[in-house]
Amino acid sequence: DYLLTQDGIITKESLLYPFEERGLQFGDGVYEVIRIYQGTFDLLEEHIDRLYRSAEAIRLEVPFAKDALIASLHQLSEKNDVQTDAKLYLQITRGSAPREHSFPDVPSNFYAYMEPSERPVSPLQQGVRAVLADDIRWDLCYIKSLNLLPNILAKQTAKEKGAFEAILHKNGTVTEGSSSNVFIIKDKILFTHPAAENILHGCVRSRVLALALKAGLQVKETAFTTDQLLQADEVFITSTTSEIMPVIEIEGSLIGNGKPGSDTRTLQLAYEKESGIQTTA
Ligand code: PLP
Repeated sequence: DYLLTQDGIITKESLLYPFEERGLQFGDGVYEVIRIYQGTFDLLEEHIDRLYRSAEAIRLEVPFAKDALIASLHQLSEKNDVQTDAKLYLQITRGSAPREHSFPDVPSNFYAYMEPSERPVSPLQQGVRAVLADDIRWDLCYIKSLNLLPNILAKQTAKEKGAFEAILHKNGTVTEGSSSNVFIIKDKILFTHPAAENILHGCVRSRVLALALKAGLQVKETAFTTDQLLQADEVFITSTTSEIMPVIEIEGSLIGNGKPGSDTRTLQLAYEKESGIQTTA
């Protein structure tokens, strides 16, 4: 298995970081997760654009020009001979240097690797449970930063309660999920939190908004409360690996009749078509 680094494509075993590494010691870096359907990258440019936005926001230089990075990722995919459903993980940190909070004068560390990843077909069909959790994160969640402790803690709580996702809220206003964006449908209107600085601007989120308009839904990028969430006709979350995941129960209370909603289903089908997905859920 090969991975791409700032020094080119190398074997996984030959990547050995020194113990002083800014990603390890500070979470000082940014990352992306990119979907691959049957060997083809999905939303690749959108993810790479966001990577550059995240890196710029923390004053970190990406050790590739955009076009060169995209070309190298295609090369990596070829070298790994990826032909199935998979995902690519990519991260950049501020490099390896003696531990000090301020920026070191060293090159950044970059790596990208791929691994097989099947679509969550059964949850996509049946829907999932969610719980609510306080959004205790910082103000700049549009940066896809390696600092994920609040997200990890929220997801673990969800898992321990038998739920798939923790839906985060700040004083009763829903922001997003621990690793997803959150949508509700009420009276044929689709609501999601605006792409402000306090949520991640999901690549799937953007595609879903476009598909919803095409499907004749009214779209409002307006924040909603946990009460509105619980009283919605339909709820779903979106992410690169979860796609459009119906939420059928939140904190033990059913959404609608407790089955994935018809508009959610319509969006799922449009999404599969748009991404060229062959194995339908
Ligand atoms: N919000 C958070 C906090 C995330 O971690 C993610 C992705 O993992 C998303 C939203 C969804 O983003 P995307 O659709 O680009 O995968």
